[in-house]
Amino acid sequence: MDTYAVFGHPVAHSKSPFIHAAFARQTGQALLYTAIEAPREGFRDAVMQFRAQGGKGANVTVPFKEEAYRLAGVLSERARLAQAVNTLRFEGAEIYGDNTDGAGLVQDLTVNLGVQLDGSRILILGAGGAARGAIPALLAQGPMRLTIANRTPQRADELAREFGALGLVAASGFDALAPEYDLIVNATSASLAGDLPPLPDAVLAGAQFAYDMMYGAAETPLLALARKLGCPRRADGLGMLVEQAAEAFFLWRGVRPQTQPVLTALRQQLQQA
Ligand code: NDP
Repeated sequence: MDTYAVFGHPVAHSKSPFIHAAFARQTGQALLYTAIEAPREGFRDAVMQFRAQGGKGANVTVPFKEEAYRLAGVLSERARLAQAVNTLRFEGAEIYGDNTDGAGLVQDLTVNLGVQLDGSRILILGAGGAARGAIPALLAQGPMRLTIANRTPQRADELAREFGALGLVAASGFDALAPEYDLIVNATSASLAGDLPPLPDAVLAGAQFAYDMMYGAAETPLLALARKLGCPRRADGLGMLVEQAAEAFFLWRGVRPQTQPVLTALRQQLQQA
């Protein structure tokens, strides 16, 4: 049976084995998908061992996405732009690296949530790996403007410079933001610690849609504040997680699974936990 795995540290909490097992059942694909916790300094060795034992591909999560980018011999254009890899495919001697996070975000926003990105004004909070993956995918949807705000302003400036050629991208300090965005995407890891990015309330209150890449049983701090401030539409990143997995599954198996039933099952699982 073809084998796949998600590599992370830690990885026990990962929903990927559940998602890919559900995709495999649904599409009639015979495969085994496990979670492997690689030592912090041992990602490369763990992946090479898995491949030597016949592994066909892998997902990569925190903190190994940049290392996976360096490990891949061949990169998709979107992985090259993101400088991070969340999906590996092993083909003979070749290690192909892709990044499906941005496509997962866009699919969740446009298809699952019905958000119009074409002509929209987007604010992205954060300038780490997730923001890097998201920006080119969002730009490909034709927004009017995309602004990046980050706690460390230099990192937002760098991203704005790098993606400037692809569209209308600017960096801004949190303090200088005005309430002029249709969509706010939280790509910071602030929610992980129960924190909020230092976004002025008026900016959040003025948005049509607040999206937090983070997900969990409870509403994230940013989404709770958005609700309190009257931001009409809000969603967490569970849909993005399922959609990026579907994109990886397609890369490995050439079959596109239906994501809605898996998203519903995962949501129920989270709420019962
Ligand atoms: P990184 O570590 O690469 O980047 C973290 C970012 O968050 C940086 O911009 C950092 O700012 C900022 N940040 C961290 N803490 C705070 C804080 N307290 N206040 C303001 N800004 C803060 O992480 P990733 O980009 O890989 O991941 C970001 C988030 O996206 C995570 O929560 C992750 O779980 C989620 N994610 C969800 C996915 C999904 O499928 N739903 C897929 C990928 C990621 P600075 O530069 O100043 O340090």
